[in-house]
Amino acid sequence: MNLQRAFGLPLILAFGVTLSGQQSGDLQQTTNGLAALIYTGPSMKTLRELTDGVGGRLTGSPAHQRAADWVASKFRSFGITSVRLEAFTIPNGWQRGSARGEILGPTPRALHVESLGWTPSTPPGGIRGDVVLIADLDMAKLKAQSDQIKGKIVMLDTPKIFAEGYVKALPKLHAAYQIFKDVGALGVIFPDRELNNVLNAHDSSWGAKVSVLPMAQVGMEDTRLIRRLLEPGPVSVQIEVENKVSGPTQVNNVIAELRGSERPDEWILIGAHLDSWDFGTGAQDNGTGSIMVMEVARTLAALGKPPRRSIRFALWGGEEQGLLGSYAYTQAHLAELDKCVAVLNTDNGAGHPKGWKVEGRKDLRDAMQPISDSLLKDFSGDDLSMDVSYDTDHGPFMLQGIPALDLKVDMAHYGEIHHKSSDTFDKVDPVDFKAGAAIVAVTAYAIAQNPNPIAPHIDHAAVGAIIKKAGLDELLTEIGQWKP
Ligand SMILES: [Zn+2]
Repeated sequence: MNLQRAFGLPLILAFGVTLSGQQSGDLQQTTNGLAALIYTGPSMKTLRELTDGVGGRLTGSPAHQRAADWVASKFRSFGITSVRLEAFTIPNGWQRGSARGEILGPTPRALHVESLGWTPSTPPGGIRGDVVLIADLDMAKLKAQSDQIKGKIVMLDTPKIFAEGYVKALPKLHAAYQIFKDVGALGVIFPDRELNNVLNAHDSSWGAKVSVLPMAQVGMEDTRLIRRLLEPGPVSVQIEVENKVSGPTQVNNVIAELRGSERPDEWILIGAHLDSWDFGTGAQDNGTGSIMVMEVARTLAALGKPPRRSIRFALWGGEEQGLLGSYAYTQAHLAELDKCVAVLNTDNGAGHPKGWKVEGRKDLRDAMQPISDSLLKDFSGDDLSMDVSYDTDHGPFMLQGIPALDLKVDMAHYGEIHHKSSDTFDKVDPVDFKAGAAIVAVTAYAIAQNPNPIAPHIDHAAVGAIIKKAGLDELLTEIGQWKP
């Protein structure tokens, strides 16, 4: 933190607006104050309440609702009066039950197995059959192989299937599941990619819809053994999974708002998903992001005088099943999105911070540059990346042409815990975590105070060009979140 640096240095913000030395000094003094409140604040204690106290928070589960209620009461305890739960409906509620599996022959052996998310239960006693390995998802080829698939358990050759990239392969995979069912497959084995038979939680479908067949996730080494045993002859397996599936289920986003002091109708949204997978306790995916949003709320509320524009805080549900909560919000609030000045999202873990992704927008990068250079460097947050992704909740806002920023951190070790039983409180580095929260708070305040909106909204064609260039258009169209 450097109070002196700002004085005498004009801060050039969007659209050529120049703040006087006095104004930029005031801005830096306030943002330094916000950061100080975060560094000395209770973020680790709050994170522990969420991760150890509530635990894993699968969308639509009682734990997720407990977490949402807990967040709402925290916001109120910060003195924020506008706090509400905004419900959206997912097609199915789902809770994990037991899973077991074994190779029956030729070499009997228990398998490391769990259900994929939103997979139905097997019939009592499980499914039992020979394994057929499928590497090519071409529809015609699959239909031509129907005799080899009927009555079998399909094992996906995931390295081959995902060779063209996950985003490209996913629509084909979803179509293939229906064919497997139509031709009489009993179920699907999805090999995990992780060493040591470690399992990564993930879905069988997009959008919290129950999959057409029971689908089991099986450890990497176990599935490699099955593949070797398949070389000389048939391999027979038995898999039994039992899950609780319910019908359409209401899920709550938590929304809080601090009304702006000068332009209350214009708003900046700061969001993170509160839901998590259930193997771990969702510490870095996305407890840390959630607490960052709450820390920004706590410290902005503590300022006494709200920033010029309003700030909305959003803790989403349904992210892991396809950004469902943030997408629902963009649809429910369509009529007022033109007043949304920017969206800041945080969901990449609490690694050493780097800065912001600007999702392919050069104009946004240029507009952010002075803020990054003058206010974020001291928190290691001045990098501005042009990478584009649709993997978290900035996505639905980006599709609406709103300037959307996603917090960028060092993710070198994120994969070790992401969606695993090891995503727990003890992996979080408090200093990196607090620096990330400080970057979000400082950026939010600077954008809220900026005389002009940070960057314009872009039109449908311009958004289309960005997502096409990033190779995302096909998947987004298939999942129904984008109409070309
Ligand atoms: Zn996440």
